[in-house]
Amino acid sequence: MTIKKFIQKSIIRKTLITILSIGILLISLSIAFPLPDKIEYSTIITDNKQQVIHAYLTSDQKWRMRTEAADISPLLRKTIIEKEDKYFYYHPGINPLSVIRAVAKNIFHFKRTSGASTITMQVARALEPKQRTLFNKTREMFRALQLEWKYSKEEILQLYLNLVPYGGNIEGVKSASLLYFNKSPDHLSLAEIMALSIIPNRPSSLVIGKSNAHILVERNKWLRRFAREKVFTDKEIEDALHEPLTASRGSAPRLLPQLSYKLKKQGGDIINTNIELNTQLKVEKLVQDYVRFLYFKNIRNAAVIVIDNSLHKVISYVGSANFLDTIDGGQVNGAAAIRQPGSTLKPLLYGLAIDAGLMTPQSVMTDIAVNYNGYAPENYDKKFNGYVTLEYALEHSLNIPAVKTLRATGKNTLVQKLADCDFDQIKKDQSRLGLSMILGGCGASLEELTGLYSSFAREGVYIKPAFTKSDIDQPKKRILSTAATFMINDILSKINRPDFPVNWQSTERMPKIAWKTGTSYGRRDAWSIGYNKKFTVGIWTGNFSGLGIPELSGANTATPLLFKIFNSIDYDSDEEWFQQPKNCDTRIVCAETGLIPSEDCKEVRMDYFIPLVSSIVKCNNSEEVIVSADNKISYCKNCMPENGYRKRVFKIIAPEMQAYFAERKIAYDKIPPHNSDCEKIFHEGVPQIIFPSDNSEYLISKKNAEPLQLVCNVSSDVNKVFWYIDNKFYKSTPAGTKQFFIPAEGPVKISCTDDKGRNKDIRITVRYVNL
Ligand SMILES: [Zn+2]
Ligand SMILES: [Zn+2]
Repeated sequence: MTIKKFIQKSIIRKTLITILSIGILLISLSIAFPLPDKIEYSTIITDNKQQVIHAYLTSDQKWRMRTEAADISPLLRKTIIEKEDKYFYYHPGINPLSVIRAVAKNIFHFKRTSGASTITMQVARALEPKQRTLFNKTREMFRALQLEWKYSKEEILQLYLNLVPYGGNIEGVKSASLLYFNKSPDHLSLAEIMALSIIPNRPSSLVIGKSNAHILVERNKWLRRFAREKVFTDKEIEDALHEPLTASRGSAPRLLPQLSYKLKKQGGDIINTNIELNTQLKVEKLVQDYVRFLYFKNIRNAAVIVIDNSLHKVISYVGSANFLDTIDGGQVNGAAAIRQPGSTLKPLLYGLAIDAGLMTPQSVMTDIAVNYNGYAPENYDKKFNGYVTLEYALEHSLNIPAVKTLRATGKNTLVQKLADCDFDQIKKDQSRLGLSMILGGCGASLEELTGLYSSFAREGVYIKPAFTKSDIDQPKKRILSTAATFMINDILSKINRPDFPVNWQSTERMPKIAWKTGTSYGRRDAWSIGYNKKFTVGIWTGNFSGLGIPELSGANTATPLLFKIFNSIDYDSDEEWFQQPKNCDTRIVCAETGLIPSEDCKEVRMDYFIPLVSSIVKCNNSEEVIVSADNKISYCKNCMPENGYRKRVFKIIAPEMQAYFAERKIAYDKIPPHNSDCEKIFHEGVPQIIFPSDNSEYLISKKNAEPLQLVCNVSSDVNKVFWYIDNKFYKSTPAGTKQFFIPAEGPVKISCTDDKGRNKDIRITVRYVNL
């Protein structure tokens, strides 16, 4: 080969080696010095239209809100690129021409350069602020190459707009446009963008709000330069030049403090909620006005949640009446706080009982004193109502029928459903919960309860309410059949009920709603949760201190606010009410039992039922009895005389109802005492010992021994009962009277025999203790 060719080859080889070496060096450096591009942004919370409603400082006390691609309007992009780095889309992070120019300037003028920074290099500098030395300039160029290697041009521009300083502790165009112009970056005008873009040059002397005149002069210089360079049309420039600059620094929005804090804890830079700001502000105003009125009753707080049922979104959330109120704990989040739910779980329970086929709205229960192993629930008004229908029991929120229904349906069935509906505290406590849970002896939050009620509005399908746009996809869980839900909705929408607020002037445009109230033990919490097809609104009122107030009740303290809110957000609604679903049918039932009528049933009424699910037991509420002509003696087939008798139909009345009637001196058609000469020993109608409870332990004070009660219920044909303690005769007493005795320590057998010879034994254990 010739020398010329050899030299050529050698040059190519050397060039290749050099390029390769530089490449390897850069890659090695890049691995050794990774980009410091972990940026902490301010958490911002937005409403459903992406408007910022709350923002938090970063841990280094900066307003550094993340600008999303959608925030960068074409106008913003164009203006920034034209001003900062015209060749941004063409250079590899450093602009060789500028570098050469800068180097030349440095050599000939011996001064450190300040210009020649590309947008990428400015990002590098913002990520790693250093003094402007030649060495650091070189480092910036290396970082710029790294950035270009890792990110797209759009991402680098976005980083620039996120990090550029705009005075004080404001970084990034999103924070700047929000805090100076109270708008999002995509709504900035050319004049506003221009004004902002000159601040990073001298952030300490060009302060929006303080040196606006100065900024205006600088802004217009740049606008005129753009005019000369034909970056924008003359009209656009002319408009921008005439735009005044009146901005000053505002404060970051602080709306929905409790919800924002709750969501911030879950993480994320930008949290887009489903809050509808208009509705939110309306509801907040109503809460504030209403609590001002409650204040005179010493009730200081309230919390409200509004759910849009069709999209299962939380559109309003009020954690307390006034967040800034430090005396009454305004910072507490009353919507998430775990409190006693009072009677608010009853509708779900009755729905479950209907779905289990146990009951229908006209099923008759007894509302009388009961005692389950020492648990003796009382009604709110401490009265008993005797026979009641499910509908009446739910409307009047009776406690004893609810406890009986829970016993019949099973506590675990209810707990499981509540766990499915995200009742966390109940899930946690499930092994400890007893029958009292249906009366509020458990913990639940307004969030949980409002979520549950929104499933009544959704034909029995529970979907976890979504606070944020990213929560929208939640599994659907059917908790009640459409039929049972319809029946519950029907009952809860009746107006003539005891928990209708007194003094409420109904307005004709109030939409139809279904609602249930609750009052917790000790009158600490008043609840009212209502819904129609569109909205579910949950209300809690009370004191965060836990102070009980005698006048506090779900009906009179919480429901008026519920009505006010519906009146405001759903005023004059033309939404129709829930339709009777196909699997819900109607039938005629006996008015006395709610069962399928038999020939003896005198009164009947209409009832809803679920075909193939609801019980089809026939009413068997009466019996034919052979009595003497004077109606003083009853006979059985064994002892009936050959003549002088007649047959009569008597209503069957359970022993506990007989006791209830006897105690209240309510007359009823009683079967006369059985023929005393009859030999037959009855096996049916054995006495029931109500107190003490079988297999229970009783503690008796050594110092001050209180006697135990002996209470039994017996058949209507019984006049006298005989008590035995440990097989020894103790006392004979008229049926239906209470007796007392002081037992000995240890196991005790108690027997009760009626005057027909039917006997019942129970066993208890007695311990004497120092009380
Ligand atoms: Zn009947
Ligand atoms: Zn007989």
